[in-house]
Amino acid sequence: MIDSYITEQPYFIEKVKRLVDNKKISHAYLIETRNYQNADSLVLSFAKYLYCSSHSSNSNFCVNCNLCSLIDQDANGDFFRIFPEGSVIKKKQILDLKEKMMTKSLTEDSNRVYIIYSADKLNKEAANALLKFLEEPENQVIAVLVTDNRYKVIDTIRSRCQIFSLINKNMEISISDFERICKIIQCLEEKKVNAIAYLPIILNNEYYTKNQWMEILIEMQYIYEQALRKLENVSFLENIESILKTILDNNTEYSLLHKLEIIHNQMKNLEYNLNVNLMLDSFIIKFCDIDD
Ligand SMILES: [Zn+2]
Repeated sequence: MIDSYITEQPYFIEKVKRLVDNKKISHAYLIETRNYQNADSLVLSFAKYLYCSSHSSNSNFCVNCNLCSLIDQDANGDFFRIFPEGSVIKKKQILDLKEKMMTKSLTEDSNRVYIIYSADKLNKEAANALLKFLEEPENQVIAVLVTDNRYKVIDTIRSRCQIFSLINKNMEISISDFERICKIIQCLEEKKVNAIAYLPIILNNEYYTKNQWMEILIEMQYIYEQALRKLENVSFLENIESILKTILDNNTEYSLLHKLEIIHNQMKNLEYNLNVNLMLDSFIIKFCDIDD
């Protein structure tokens, strides 16, 4: 049940409960898993929680609940799950889903829920079809989209969803990668624009590919988000305390938000830009030239 995730995902559970208790359920959610290891079962619990009225009225236990056991058998006509076929989610899958959502519901008053796993794998046609569906939401139909990184999901879809980010405490990077990312952040925060000259030295003049930069940006995004949370006095990640201190010594809330935005834009640019080095210089300039 959803409560069993409260120690690992306190923000998420708290927000979800508030939504359901206040009956403020949206039509579309995007869950960013950050490769949290129990993401699949948590997403399923979340979707059941939205779907089954006994979950919310029955202190989260759904023992002997016929509707929920039908979900587990993949035989509940009000609950759908879409996975990529091969490496993409195709338009036909979305059209089939729409058709199913048009048919009559099992119960009069319950929501209908669909989950799209790996929502970043929607191909263009499928994304357009889904977008139309999201723009004209049916009553009581709730979309739950799942991705490891929200910035991989196309903007138009992302902007229609309420986003929840999960915490991944065991960041899936090695200690040496983590140390290198801390050094990069330290260099940016302390050397400011001069990081253009210093960063290559820190990186031993090694060449980094787009994918490697993307990984670094994802981790930077994560660490800066933790810094923001730390500002609100809610951090529980001891391993990043010291880099958080460097960040907080050098930033205000305003500049943190601004830097996160620059990291996000950089991730987008990385997809299209061919010259990684030129792009990196402009990134450093923007990143380090923020007036607090
Ligand atoms: Zn139930």
